Amino acid sequence: MSILKVARMGHPVLRHRGRPLEPVDLRSPQLQKLIDDMIDTMREYSGVGLAAPQVHESLRLFVALLAEEPDDGTAATVIVNPEIVPNTDGRKDGWEGCLSIPDIRGLVPRFEDITVKALDRDGRPIELRLKGFPARVVQHEADHLDGVLFFDRMPSMQSLTFLEEYSRYHVDADE
Ligand code: ZN
Repeated sequence: MSILKVARMGHPVLRHRGRPLEPVDLRSPQLQKLIDDMIDTMREYSGVGLAAPQVHESLRLFVALLAEEPDDGTAATVIVNPEIVPNTDGRKDGWEGCLSIPDIRGLVPRFEDITVKALDRDGRPIELRLKGFPARVVQHEADHLDGVLFFDRMPSMQSLTFLEEYSRYHVDADE
């Protein structure tokens, strides 16, 4: 397995719409290796999610740690061709960062309660109901598959902060 190079904001691949995958595509050893490498890369850089366009692959695929408080022991979930349906109207602000936009945080409104329909890494249909932080992670990663970055979702840039200042001034104001 390998650690992959992460595309940073400005690389055109981050602005392309990813191609859907067929279940037969997921039988290829190359694609299974890509998934394993994406999981390793996400963990290497302490991310909670990583989408294929972030590693220069324009595909509708991401990996994520979908626990309320993810840590090293959280198993990675593989999501292919996601469709997101919100279960509530209300969006809630929360802090986000992105491995493609290093050391920056910003407040982004997201649906608090969603249902995700997708395929798993073996091409089997899955359906997940997610609330709170895991729901936020999935909306952020699914946006990457449409070429959308979290800056695009911010109604105001006022909350943009460097990681050091985030830790100093905002980490307790997260609630
Ligand atoms: Zn991101």
